[in-house]
Amino acid sequence: MEQNLLIYNTLTRTKELFKPLNAPFVGMYVCGPTVYGDAHLGHARPAITFDIIFRYLKHLGYKVRYVRNITDVGHLEHDADEGEDKIAKKARVEQLEPMEVAQYYTNRYHDAMAALNVLPPSIEPHATGHIIEQIELVKEILANGFAYESNGSVYFDIEKYNEKYKYGRLSGRNLDDIINNSRELAGVGEKHNQADFALWKKAQPEHIMRWPSPWSDGFPGWHCECTAMGRKYLGSHFDIHGGGMDLVFPHHECEIAQSVASQGDDMVHYWVHNNMITINGQKMGKSLGNFITLPEFFEGTHKSLDKAYSPMTIRFFILQAHYRSTVDFSNDALLAAEKGLERLLDAHSALKRITPSDPDGKSAVVDMTFVDNLREKCYEAMNDDFATPNVISQLFEASRAINSVADKKATMAADVLHALTEVFETFAFDLLGLRASAGAAAGGDNSAREEAFGKVVDMLLEQRMKAKANKDWVTSDLIRNNLAALGFEVKDTKDGFTWKLSI
Ligand SMILES: [Zn+2]
Repeated sequence: MEQNLLIYNTLTRTKELFKPLNAPFVGMYVCGPTVYGDAHLGHARPAITFDIIFRYLKHLGYKVRYVRNITDVGHLEHDADEGEDKIAKKARVEQLEPMEVAQYYTNRYHDAMAALNVLPPSIEPHATGHIIEQIELVKEILANGFAYESNGSVYFDIEKYNEKYKYGRLSGRNLDDIINNSRELAGVGEKHNQADFALWKKAQPEHIMRWPSPWSDGFPGWHCECTAMGRKYLGSHFDIHGGGMDLVFPHHECEIAQSVASQGDDMVHYWVHNNMITINGQKMGKSLGNFITLPEFFEGTHKSLDKAYSPMTIRFFILQAHYRSTVDFSNDALLAAEKGLERLLDAHSALKRITPSDPDGKSAVVDMTFVDNLREKCYEAMNDDFATPNVISQLFEASRAINSVADKKATMAADVLHALTEVFETFAFDLLGLRASAGAAAGGDNSAREEAFGKVVDMLLEQRMKAKANKDWVTSDLIRNNLAALGFEVKDTKDGFTWKLSI
């Protein structure tokens, strides 16, 4: 289907028409987790945001290669060039192999993503599996004169780079501000300039995660992996690079610098960033005690949660806000999201049970114009930079129409019912990725279960038809009365029967 999709590009600060470099192929790289602890809400938001983009681009017919990495080395504490490697520290504290820590939390991350119905990426490369590519990247930058070696480590030379290219384009910061903001540390250590960042770090004797390189036994700087792996799997120019807004500076700014310093230009066409999450109006942080992990949400085990919230409630809540807006989590907001999701899923169940009928001249009619309008509005919303809140409000409109038919206040013909079901399921299940519960059947919705359940009712009513044909009125009434007691309204028609669940 031909659609004009607008995507907000952080680099140009405008919504731009999406034009893939090599249609129908689309390359998308998203920064994945650093696996040294359980995923929290800050991980759920980018995962869900880019899951929506992945789903929608595929829906539009693009062949999407989605790369989301696992950072298992090189991400030092405080996101800076000093301090301990986050994974090595966890391994030391828990007396485990660093790879044991990385594997354990990678598995936990995958479980949480599956519960949130986040589709797995096409490729999930690990930083430790791409040390050679990262060393090659560092060599290129050194050869082009934008890096220097210092005591076995290699640093990116920001001033040199800034003379030729402008550093800070993505974040809108200029080099003077960056240097002024790090003044207190100036002159300390091996760097020429405090704004310089590590491309390769020499390992201290106690550091277990180390690889040989031309400069020292050590490990790559955090920013190298995304540039090296993005280029390896998506080519030297690709369409979308995404992540949370907290990665704009320094991580993505450094990635752009590495890319330009090595190959002469940026690899990325559209830079896409999701906004942050606050909890009760406060920034989320371990020291603030409001740091709630996804398993804690799902099990309701954190002290600031009134109860457990299902993964679908979390997903629905995140989608109720546009990905570029901030989201504030609170128990009240989550309870409201839980109710809203239930309303949509109830409407879908009602939709599955509607018996179509032609207009009777008395009731209102839900007609094809309504469905066409609904479809158009939903596409408009998705094409406007993935405006999921607008899709959700359209689905609520549809729910009202469905409920009016279910309550016999309106009628819906068979072709309209079919079209409405298709639009509702496409947007709610295929594109927003909602489903009835975490344990629902694969395929993302409960329609398979609904269908099986409907067939059982049909089977019972077939038995009742046979009983009636045999004039076995006792059995016939027994089936009808028992179904009625469970809330099934059975109507005899001249060709057989119809039924609906009226509770
Ligand atoms: Zn990254």
